[in-house]
Amino acid sequence: MYTIDLIRDILELKSCEVANYSQQITELVYDSRKVNQPEQSLFFALTAARDGHDFVNDAYQRGVRSFVVSRSVTFLESVSDVNVLFVDDVLQALQSLAVYHRLTFQGQLVGIAGSNGKSVVKEWLFQLLSIDKKVYQSPKSYNSQLGVALSLWNLSNHYDIALIEAGISEPGEMERLQALIQPEIGVFTNIGLAHAQNFESKSAKLQEKLKLFRESKALIAASKYISPGMIPEHMELYQWGDQQSDYVCLERVELLSNSSVLQISIDQVSYTFEIPFTDKASIENILTCFTFMSYMAYAPAVIIERLKQLRQLEMRLQLKKGIGNSSLIDDSYSNDLASLQISLDFLAQQNQHSKKTLILSDMDGLASSEKLQEKLRAILSRTSISRMIWVGTAYPWLSDLNGLDVTLYHSTDDLLANLDVLAIKDETVLIKGGRTYLFEQIVQRLTLRSHGTVLEINLNALSHNLMHYRSMIPNDVKLMAMVKAFSYGSGSFEVANLLQFSKVDYLTVAFADEGVELRMGGITLPIMVLSPDSDTFQTLLQYDLEPEVYSMRFLNQFIDFLKDNNRKAYKIHVKLDTGMHRLGFLPTEVEGLIDRLNQQEEVRVQSCFTHLVASGDSKQDEYTQYQIDTYATAVAKLEQGIGYSFIKHVANTSAIVRWPQAHFDMVRLGIGLYGVDMDSDGSQLEKVSTLQTTVTQLKELPKTETVGYDRKGILTRDSRIATVKIGYADGYNRKFGYGVGKMKINNQLVPTVGTICMDMCMLDVTDIEVKEGDIVEVFPDIMQASQDIGTIPYELLVNISSRVKRVYYFE
Ligand SMILES: *Cc1c(COP(=O)(O)O)cnc(C)c1O
Repeated sequence: MYTIDLIRDILELKSCEVANYSQQITELVYDSRKVNQPEQSLFFALTAARDGHDFVNDAYQRGVRSFVVSRSVTFLESVSDVNVLFVDDVLQALQSLAVYHRLTFQGQLVGIAGSNGKSVVKEWLFQLLSIDKKVYQSPKSYNSQLGVALSLWNLSNHYDIALIEAGISEPGEMERLQALIQPEIGVFTNIGLAHAQNFESKSAKLQEKLKLFRESKALIAASKYISPGMIPEHMELYQWGDQQSDYVCLERVELLSNSSVLQISIDQVSYTFEIPFTDKASIENILTCFTFMSYMAYAPAVIIERLKQLRQLEMRLQLKKGIGNSSLIDDSYSNDLASLQISLDFLAQQNQHSKKTLILSDMDGLASSEKLQEKLRAILSRTSISRMIWVGTAYPWLSDLNGLDVTLYHSTDDLLANLDVLAIKDETVLIKGGRTYLFEQIVQRLTLRSHGTVLEINLNALSHNLMHYRSMIPNDVKLMAMVKAFSYGSGSFEVANLLQFSKVDYLTVAFADEGVELRMGGITLPIMVLSPDSDTFQTLLQYDLEPEVYSMRFLNQFIDFLKDNNRKAYKIHVKLDTGMHRLGFLPTEVEGLIDRLNQQEEVRVQSCFTHLVASGDSKQDEYTQYQIDTYATAVAKLEQGIGYSFIKHVANTSAIVRWPQAHFDMVRLGIGLYGVDMDSDGSQLEKVSTLQTTVTQLKELPKTETVGYDRKGILTRDSRIATVKIGYADGYNRKFGYGVGKMKINNQLVPTVGTICMDMCMLDVTDIEVKEGDIVEVFPDIMQASQDIGTIPYELLVNISSRVKRVYYFE
């Protein structure tokens, strides 16, 4: 049990102000929105992209009374019932506490590092070991400096073994993670190219990753990555590979259509077994798991038996369209408190339906642990869900959850038989269950069908990109996110809900209709409309949308309309034309604008802005500077003329990066949010949308044949041709025909053949290994693809047809 007093000792604090030394602390929190047991929570004011000190007040309002801060906070001085611990570095303090707690763990601690496959190996080891051991695993992608510390905090001696994943992106980070995790056993998955840009070389990256295991007694790795010379002498190395000298030797692999047969040898005895995977990465991960299990003294026959039950798991939380106009959040592969909390946070972000349903399975160990029951109750009673469908044991406390409507089923089959009775409609449903409950059957029944092409939207990446740009602007500069054109093709309220949750200041759409869709999807942020039309004035008022005002004629029309409707001080955004020559008042018109504004009460200037025509182009820097200067002069005149101040904004994505002097009061972030790098600094951006389809049919054709309409696809050799279901009606431009377009299958690029049809096109896959059903990435490099047909990434993104299903995921 940790009290404030003990924590103060652990952190060796000199400075603190404590109202209650004996206050017990069970939860470490860093996000004021995510507090479940406020009295027992210790809030860490981390200073990352946003300064946690600004949210201390919010945390207090939610009942938190204990804080770790690195500077004085006026609010905390004004209240007396708080425990405030002052430290130099808040993250480090959190880590120190986590290390202290980690050292109380008496079970075995396994650290997992590597470029890819960490989460899969962690999850699979969890499954393989759980059959006879109590296993703890760090939740989802909690592998950063912060995530690892939080993972360790949840450890307890209830567990026999703990699996902790460690991820790094920069040199120097692993040393800190090693000090935190102090793994007794190491598992190294592989080394790839991810994040390579921050390291001098692949071997520098490898050396960095290996630091995690510096003091471990054993390491499990493939011999092709790690040789004995690379690790400290005290460490035992258990390798797998294709050499007879390897501890686990892979003698043969045979790929079948949906499975592979592996032949391995250990201690010169051969074993042959089948696994339900065919891809190279999964086979490598299986061998890593096999080697680990063997090191843990499990007999090969036992391991083989357990491996058969592994399934390729969806590691991500997915948001899909469901039947009855519902939204489904699919998280049907695991169930523990930490991952439930992540899913509920995600559910809380999604406001498109006011009704929210949670379908939840019983949890491992819940029946025997009152502490676990209490925590689960705390989590459930703080959610905004309207009803819960519980599958599993009937607990007395289920009937007492703050008036939450709970329906109980003893098994998944029971629930499936009654699915119609639940009448799922116009609601968001979170489906969260342990693996053995097979909740994917529920998801399958509730998902809306569509054709095989989907646009996957990675909401984590979107969030990452937002933080990336936010860190480039000062704290007092506001951020407006451009969600026009269906968020550059990636979706409307789904994306906007995330932006709202991430506390951007403003959203911008092109047309009033788009704004209406956002309001219907639960968006309450202020919304600017770029191209309002006089026939949408009523809509603007009804949905509280703020128009861009770009001409005297338009201003007069709007003022007249407001007069008729008795509205005063309606917020407008004045657009100045400093060189784009699209919409906007010319600088010479500002005087007239001032006069008009001063003669009325119907509108009030909320902001004034201009748009740069070439902020990303260094050859036009002089012109950009001219635009900025012209704007600054005109806006000063306007402000003085109307006698009050308003938000000033100029910078789009490229200008955020290249023109810090043009940040003014607010920036307008567009394409960068969606992961497209227009300024080649964007190696730090993450890819948000992936357009993918599958191979529908394969054909072997002699070179005398042609492919597609008008016999335009001429073969120059005997060829293998793949048909994929994406055509110009989906937004795949006809100019991508005749080999101009390149798609990616199993990590290899393949060209199109012949013309692009309306709903399909054909690829030349003669040179690669492929089978029907394989996944095809349509735009492996969107920048390259847009250059290939003489356009820009913006156009490719927004042209992806609305009939292509959007699937959102969150890791
Ligand atoms: C689209 C748009 C932006 C965003 O531009 P990006 O280059 O995508 O960042 C900013 N301001 C206005 C007025 C826009 O129309």
